[in-house]
Amino acid sequence: MDPFFFQNPKQTMKHTYILLIILLILSHFGCNLSVSDGETQSLNYQISYNANPECHLLVQLQFEGYSSGKTRMIIPHEWAWQDSYEKGIKNLKLLSPDGQLTLADNGIDYEISHPAGQTIIIQYEVKPYWEGPINREVYYRPIIKPGYFHFIGHGVFVYPDWNPSVTRQIRVEWKGIPDDWQMANSFGKNEREQFLNHSINELCHSVYMAGDFLIQEADIAGFPVYIALRGEWKFPQDELPVLVEKVVYAVRGFWNDYDFPYFLISTIPIDSQNSKGGTGLTNSFALFVSDDHENLDDLRFLLTHELFHTWNGRKIQREEPEELIYWFSEGFTNYYTRLILLRNGLITLQEFISSYNQTLIEYFCSPAINATNEEVLSQAHKDRFIDRMPYLRGDILAFRWNTLIKQTSSHSLDDLIFDLFQEAQTSRMVVSMDNLAMLMKRLVPEGVEQDMERYLVRGETLVPGANDLGPGAVVNDVVTYLFDLGFTFEESDSPKNWLVTEINENSPVWKAGLRKGYTITGRSIHWGQANQPIILVFINDQGKKTRIEYLPRGEKKMVPQYQLNEEFFQKNRAACLKWFGVTGNER
Ligand SMILES: [Zn+2]
Repeated sequence: MDPFFFQNPKQTMKHTYILLIILLILSHFGCNLSVSDGETQSLNYQISYNANPECHLLVQLQFEGYSSGKTRMIIPHEWAWQDSYEKGIKNLKLLSPDGQLTLADNGIDYEISHPAGQTIIIQYEVKPYWEGPINREVYYRPIIKPGYFHFIGHGVFVYPDWNPSVTRQIRVEWKGIPDDWQMANSFGKNEREQFLNHSINELCHSVYMAGDFLIQEADIAGFPVYIALRGEWKFPQDELPVLVEKVVYAVRGFWNDYDFPYFLISTIPIDSQNSKGGTGLTNSFALFVSDDHENLDDLRFLLTHELFHTWNGRKIQREEPEELIYWFSEGFTNYYTRLILLRNGLITLQEFISSYNQTLIEYFCSPAINATNEEVLSQAHKDRFIDRMPYLRGDILAFRWNTLIKQTSSHSLDDLIFDLFQEAQTSRMVVSMDNLAMLMKRLVPEGVEQDMERYLVRGETLVPGANDLGPGAVVNDVVTYLFDLGFTFEESDSPKNWLVTEINENSPVWKAGLRKGYTITGRSIHWGQANQPIILVFINDQGKKTRIEYLPRGEKKMVPQYQLNEEFFQKNRAACLKWFGVTGNER
């Protein structure tokens, strides 16, 4: 029976009461409460690039104000590890008549009083608010230079306090862009006027650029992927689309999800040495890579990791606070990055093992090895070793759980991930400890609650299993070194210089002449990796500049390391690779 045509009298009565109460509430608040307020209205942005007198963007926004006559404007403030985007928003003005703009109680946002339901027009400028090189500290901020601009929406878009997750019509018009510039953003390529059907969240969680970019195209199962690149590079630029094609194909193939009519990858050079980073955004990801990379080897990992986040982190959302789930969203992403590269012949088993051994060294030598999950949350962005811990322990835990599943069934960790994706699509399941425990119970009867409690909640040390890398590898303790910079420092103001506060007189930096009170002006550091050389540039008290290179080795430490069992591997190649889900015999 169709339930809509049958109601018992009691239920009908109940519904009438509820309706009556709603009507009473509505009439009480009068026109203050109109259900459609802010829900479906559109936003109209006009963004102009101006090179004079200094490079900036001039933004005009037009929308319909609340029928209450009061609209709050949300100003960019916090995203990623930045917490002062508002500094880049200047000269905010109300252009529509009969209104007033006042600073809101939090000292960042603005309130507009205006005639009820009036069309409101505001204008503001976006200006760079720092000087000096583009490095990890600043690359998420709007970069507006002669010749190009590049920004993430979180640092630029001012918007009314409407529901940011509701899909709405957003028009973006670009002005003042020189004819010979290339333009690309999360929503299209070389379009001067864009009509988006997206939410405010998606508008902000997007990348936008124009200027002297080279835009290349790769084809993935009939859909285009654009690669926007600027600057001078040491690696051959035409190799990047080839790599992108392979990686995107591999990751989408893993998820068996090819539904991406448009995708953009932006790459801009940064001024740090031997450094790279990036983030997945709407229909896109933004990469920041130092221009000293001679080949694309490092980028294989970065591209795959970032692309994997399209699912682990976006299509599969995290429970808040998300820091408590980073071990899954980052650690499992690293686990699958390596695995997908291996399965698609993009790395060898030897490279796979070396990469995982690096993770083990970093984990066992980290001063944060026993940080609790609560500390991961409370110390987020304050302690770089604690920030790294979820990446490391999640990766090791993924190996452990994969072994656990394989011991008792023909399944693998892949089944957990696919089940989760399925649930996320059908019932909007988010990643949480409880949900993962529930899904794991389907695969491992005894469950993993105890593992979660020990290794995540309490931060106990994980021990890599003898069989975690299948029959082709063995694990042994090997001597390595704790990471030791040899000095302590304080960050001084922008541009980010370091002031040396203490120094170990037995360290290589002491021998190289570094002393307390000197200023470090340049550096390349692989944090936590004692076998990777550090490069420092410092200025002594006479103003003399010195460049040094050294290994940041502290005390000795025994760390488990895997080794390929060469003889066994040569004779049983297929069986060894099968452990990792490699089906062909490509490597
Ligand atoms: Zn990540």
